[in-house]
Amino acid sequence: MIYGVLGDIHSNLAALQAALSVLRSAGADQILSVGDVVGYGAAPRECIALLKDEGVHVVKGNHDAAVAGELDPRYFNQYARAAVEWTQRQLTAEELHWLAALPLRMHFEHCALAHGSYAHPEDFHYVHGPHDADASLNELELPVCFVGHTHVPVTLLRLAEDPLHTAFTHDSFVDLSETTRAVVNVGSVGQPRDEDPRAACALYDSSARLLRIVRTSYDIEREQARILKAGLPPVLAERLRLGV
Ligand code: ZN
Repeated sequence: MIYGVLGDIHSNLAALQAALSVLRSAGADQILSVGDVVGYGAAPRECIALLKDEGVHVVKGNHDAAVAGELDPRYFNQYARAAVEWTQRQLTAEELHWLAALPLRMHFEHCALAHGSYAHPEDFHYVHGPHDADASLNELELPVCFVGHTHVPVTLLRLAEDPLHTAFTHDSFVDLSETTRAVVNVGSVGQPRDEDPRAACALYDSSARLLRIVRTSYDIEREQARILKAGLPPVLAERLRLGV
């Protein structure tokens, strides 16, 4: 089975279209999303519609929860909060309900899905490095869990030969066949923060146990124009060009 995994779309339609096209042309059988469909960008309705059309399996991110009214946006920075409030005004009741109904975790035949930490997914803890990943790796019953939330791709893993030690890699190609467990942060489609402005997504071949993190260019100016036209904070447009 080839899994295509993408997340942290953040209402960026051009980036979502580009990432979906990469995953489809690579032969993905099933497409999964680690959440944060909305927030920051200016095409929330279009992104929700496209995910539904494409039959993507989606877990709930903290921005999705905030827009659905389940999480207090006072804890967000001023730009994220402005985007949450703007998004709430755009969505229909049915779209808000769709966000509210997203699960916090999903389990498939070969992998699991969560937005932040797999352990206590409702707390949306960030997984940056080995220490943050330990609780998830300990609790995980499947060999791989895909996550997002930090907008920076990284793979945290435990090798069969050294199962007590959590290692990490930023490589784009990772052979997971010699691991007992792995937590894979697939990076962000719609707002990368590793100074590479291209959309990030992942392909996982569960038979070969090979992981690939893919970057793809998209029409950044189109999404910047959409953000400015919507009256969202200009910094949200500027950061797309910088990848921060
Ligand atoms: Zn996010």
